[in-house]
Amino acid sequence: MSLRLEGRVAIVTGAARGLGLAIAERLVAEGARVLAADILDDEGKRAAESLGAGARYAHLDVRRAPEWRVAVELCSSELGAPNVLVNNAGVLCQGPIEEITEEQFRLSFEVHMQGPLLGIQAVIPAMTAAGGGSIINVSSAQGLQGMRNLTPYVATKFGLTGLTRNAAIELGPRGIRVNALHPGPIDTPMRPREKSAKSAPSPFFSVLPLRRASRPEEIAATVAFLASDDSSYATGASFVIDGGQLAGPMNA
Ligand code: NAD
Repeated sequence: MSLRLEGRVAIVTGAARGLGLAIAERLVAEGARVLAADILDDEGKRAAESLGAGARYAHLDVRRAPEWRVAVELCSSELGAPNVLVNNAGVLCQGPIEEITEEQFRLSFEVHMQGPLLGIQAVIPAMTAAGGGSIINVSSAQGLQGMRNLTPYVATKFGLTGLTRNAAIELGPRGIRVNALHPGPIDTPMRPREKSAKSAPSPFFSVLPLRRASRPEEIAATVAFLASDDSSYATGASFVIDGGQLAGPMNA
């Protein structure tokens, strides 16, 4: 694998498991140093250890501004000033629209929109001082298309798409690129077992052109691209990696 990310220092949120861990692994494999952040401290510490000498773990609840300040300070002192931020932490709240609680909606808003905003604000000084950086917001195919029984998720992932575009407009002149990633289904702990690629095929997959969930590594590869200079002219954009989900209905 090339070392196109040598000299990059990345903060990845939600990196204890699932897609975040695969992203951290891919960035390290391409030469970056990575601060793996999460609220699952035991899993997160184990994950950071498995990443090797170029990685550290930080407890970071993305909803809390003071924790962002501490994480950026830790990153700067132990690994170097961050020039890549991957806002990956996410939560899945499901249910019919009339049953969605205020708590579910607030949690989804705080993790998918407020957290990424606080993260962007926290890294702006370091990225501005360095003359630029790359911010990748992990939205979802559901940040571009609705899905039944996922109102808090869909509404706030759409919001993250808007946050991405506005941040790109305001930060582009400082050399800071901000892009959104829109994965389709990924085989991670977030997905219920019946939707996992490892168990019986879900009816959902039968209407996907590629007929399966992605492996986290298939999504992480695009994050590495967006973190690197290979995407140097991309900002404010939406990168869809969804097995064809948004191309159109297979069952129409
Ligand atoms: P996951 O549940 O395995 O991982 C999510 C991680 O986020 C966990 O480690 C969790 O502890 C962390 N997290 C949750 N709240 C947090 C908070 N307040 N502060 C810090 N960390 C927090 O799920 P995943 O599938 O790996 O999801 C990663 C991202 O990918 C999410 O943003 C998700 O919405 C997105 N995504 C997932 C799928 C999918 O099918 N799994 C599809 C599209 C997009």
